[in-house]
Amino acid sequence: MSDQPVPAESTERAPRKRPDQTGGPGSSQPTEPRPHDPTDAAAAIAPPAEDGTGGAPNPAGPPGPTELAPPRGTGDVLPPESWRWQAATRLAMDSFATAGYAPIETPIFEHTEVFERGVGVGSEVVGKEMYTFSDRGGRSLTLRPELTAPVMRAVLGHNLHRARLPVKLAYAGPMFRQERPQKGRYRQFSQVGIEAIGSMSPAIDAEVIEVGDRYLRDAGVEPTLLLNSIGHLDPGCRTGYLKLLTEYLVANRSALAPVDIERISLNPLRTFDSKESRTIEVMRRAPMITDHLCDDCRNHFDAVQSHLTKLDVSYTLDPHLVRGLDYYTRTAFEFTAGGLGSQNAVGGGGRYDGLAESLGGQHLPGIGFALGLDRILLSGFQTKDQSSPVAAYVVAIGSAAVEQALAIATHLRAAGIGADLDFLDRSVKSQMKDAARSGGRWAVIVGDEEIAGNNVTLKDLGTGEQETVARDKLEDRLKP
Ligand code: AMP
Repeated sequence: MSDQPVPAESTERAPRKRPDQTGGPGSSQPTEPRPHDPTDAAAAIAPPAEDGTGGAPNPAGPPGPTELAPPRGTGDVLPPESWRWQAATRLAMDSFATAGYAPIETPIFEHTEVFERGVGVGSEVVGKEMYTFSDRGGRSLTLRPELTAPVMRAVLGHNLHRARLPVKLAYAGPMFRQERPQKGRYRQFSQVGIEAIGSMSPAIDAEVIEVGDRYLRDAGVEPTLLLNSIGHLDPGCRTGYLKLLTEYLVANRSALAPVDIERISLNPLRTFDSKESRTIEVMRRAPMITDHLCDDCRNHFDAVQSHLTKLDVSYTLDPHLVRGLDYYTRTAFEFTAGGLGSQNAVGGGGRYDGLAESLGGQHLPGIGFALGLDRILLSGFQTKDQSSPVAAYVVAIGSAAVEQALAIATHLRAAGIGADLDFLDRSVKSQMKDAARSGGRWAVIVGDEEIAGNNVTLKDLGTGEQETVARDKLEDRLKP
């Protein structure tokens, strides 16, 4: 323990005093992490405009302040919440990498036809939710609403499938859909996901599902896995089934909710997704796809289940599970979690054996999933690695020490130890408060005496204990 006396006040503009040597933990408490909820974020800063397009800037007259609220359905992710975001993303990408999924980055916007041809114009996402615009050259571009079709485009465009199969890729990033915002449903949201392209084996379906399940569990989400097979487009399989389903829906048309009637011709499978109680009642008695699978799809589905059972991945068969994007074939799955209200799907995925051909490529089967990061965080994501990496805050006593403090912080950083310091010419007391706010465990105090002794005073901000440490031993002392 240092036994240095508290020195007299310095002559600095901001008086610099040695910190209270008997003091305990820093007084300022970190603010409670606020759940990321862009539906409130805009409302908290500016009232939404009457047309529901977000906060309204000053109408006529002199220009008012710039609109500070983000657009409706989007949000800013601020510290400390942003540390959780980064940790959740990193955990996902590291976890996917252990199974051989390499990161891929594709553009935020694509040619609109990638989604029209890939995801399908009959899907809600393409039909109603895309942010599509023309650029100055008159090309139709779309902010990506999902990443499976762009990843397949990139694989085909770069001939990745000619190198090594299956092509295993992982991604993380923002997606855009113009949906009605509510808790867990935003217009810009983030997904992490993987795609395994080039294998028909049911074993890879099981691998993909297990990788998603394990990540969610590691992220502290207790997922329920719903599993189904939706067959493939063939008269002896899904195409035949869709005929039966359509006949059933037409026969029960008057009992369906009005919003679901248009689905009969557009996308009959999606009637299973209806939230309308009248339609749900009708769908209870509807023919099930699983009773109409061809032998190959049935065998594939049985094999996927047997692999999952061997891997100890528990699942619930849900013959009503259909996925919103048109490209899915055979295996379809969804992860749900409690505590999320009506938006309880944390992720989903499936096989897309016809996607490459829809994009004009050769036959190239694939399977993947996308998990919604916003919902993973809302459902209580926790890891050790989710706060500021600043471990030490260097406190300078007197102007001569400022240079030293910056040098010490720089050395610590170079040794891999996060370090921060004051840049507002604060008093020592205020620096100590700022040290507590920084999230660091240590205050490294340097003044005239320390400079003369070639040492520092190290204070544990948790216990309040102090000790003198030689400058050349500081990195070793602070290494975790
Ligand atoms: P999808 O790409 O529709 O299969 O969605 C996969 C996952 O992304 C969903 O289970 C959600 O967790 C998440 N997700 C999809 N749309 C949104 C949205 N508008 N806002 C927030 N998360 C979303």
